Amino acid sequence: MNNTPRRLVILGAGTGGTLAANRLRKKFPTSELMIDIVDDNDVHVYQPGLLFVPFGLAKPDEIVRPRGEQLHDGISYHVNPVIKVDIDTNEVELGDGSVLDYDVLLVATGSALQPEETEGLLGDAWMNSVFTFYDMEGATALHEKLEGFTEGRLVVNVVDMPIKCPVAPLEFVFLADWYFTEKGVRDAITIVYVTPLDAAFTKPTAANALGSLLEDKNIEIVTEFNTGEVDNENKALVGYDGTEVPFDLAVIVPLHGGAPYIAESGDLGDELGFVPTDNATMQSLVRPNIFVLGDAADVPTSKAGSVTHFEGEVLVENLESFLAGKPLEATYDGHANCFIETGFSKALLIDFNYETEPLPGHYPSRFGLPLLKESRINHLGKLMFQSFYWHGLLPGRDIPGIGPDMPTAGKKKKVSA
Ligand SMILES: Cc1cc2nc3c(=O)[nH]c(=O)nc-3n(C[C@H](O)[C@H](O)[C@H](O)COP(=O)(O)OP(=O)(O)OC[C@H]3O[C@@H](n4cnc5c(N)ncnc54)[C@H](O)[C@@H]3O)c2cc1C
Repeated sequence: MNNTPRRLVILGAGTGGTLAANRLRKKFPTSELMIDIVDDNDVHVYQPGLLFVPFGLAKPDEIVRPRGEQLHDGISYHVNPVIKVDIDTNEVELGDGSVLDYDVLLVATGSALQPEETEGLLGDAWMNSVFTFYDMEGATALHEKLEGFTEGRLVVNVVDMPIKCPVAPLEFVFLADWYFTEKGVRDAITIVYVTPLDAAFTKPTAANALGSLLEDKNIEIVTEFNTGEVDNENKALVGYDGTEVPFDLAVIVPLHGGAPYIAESGDLGDELGFVPTDNATMQSLVRPNIFVLGDAADVPTSKAGSVTHFEGEVLVENLESFLAGKPLEATYDGHANCFIETGFSKALLIDFNYETEPLPGHYPSRFGLPLLKESRINHLGKLMFQSFYWHGLLPGRDIPGIGPDMPTAGKKKKVSA
């Protein structure tokens, strides 16, 4: 056997890159595998916490930590932007001109917000009456704006799919309903949810449950709206078909794409900048020595931290097989789950995979958390998740009973109308 250690280069030290680096470091000594990980900044944001910042339920400094401190010893960490990957010579070019060569590459650079792709979105109204909560700057500025917003039309718009955590904009409108009720101004505010989908969510059972909640909370929904432009002067979203949705305050989830360097890296990505990936093994379809994790992959499930976590366990097993020259036998079934905050200290939980849509019942077994039903215990689960993220998920700890395969125990197969 060759005694030279192989080199794994991981692009992105977010959720996926960090958990994969830590899991692999535990499995392999440095004499067998050198691990380099690259990120363009040292601020690891717990992104689910961005939802709470606008409502004063989390402070920015409570949801960020230095990236380097999340990585185990023996991992070489580079704070440097990736400029491009040469998939033929196995080299990564970094912002300072240095080059990292690799035997195996893991792409975990997530998805990037592209507000500049929507006409007018970054116009005069940006950060005045048009915001996003999908990054820290926007979420923080929106907090100040919401504090002074006491009447008018709040419009929350998803420009197009795919987006990270597709339920987060719905959670935003549910929390807005709670927030304005607590402030005693709910009657003076119309809340409108504007989506390109034909219902509140993609999966029919969950869409019904979430649609009923919108109705119960008196939140209007506009479906099949394809945002073409933000008219700054008249304060309206303008659809490609000319339809207008007026607003006093707009909260926009911009278009998402892959990290910009992917477009500079030959055939690495598709037209949106996501990497074509085998749905089951997490090996890229571009080169056998390139694997993909999390939002960067084009697999047909939600772009979510839970997905990244489940994929990560499968990926680590398959990377181990790949390095040993064995077939990739671990398979990912598309398992995803999400707590959906619904306001007034309650939340729903959904659990699904490529084949099975969210069903009622309990997770992860008959005695677990209620599915598709508002409850306080789910809200507590959502709040506790942050601690699990820093202390369990990122360090790469296994959690008994919670694994990559979607559990079927506890789920009701038939849904009553
Ligand atoms: C508002 C909001 C709420 C959310 N809520 C939930 C939730 O409740 N549940 C859930 O499961 N998920 C949620 N998510 C989604 C979840 O945070 C992401 O799906 C998850 O972080 C994806 O992990 P990742 O490793 O693929 O990407 P990230 O964690 O985003 O990491 C990508 C990393 O790549 C780095 N990078 C990008 N480009 C470059 C470059 N050129 N050079 C160097 N580094 C680069 C970035 O800096 C980043 O650190 C939410 C997201 C948002 C925005």
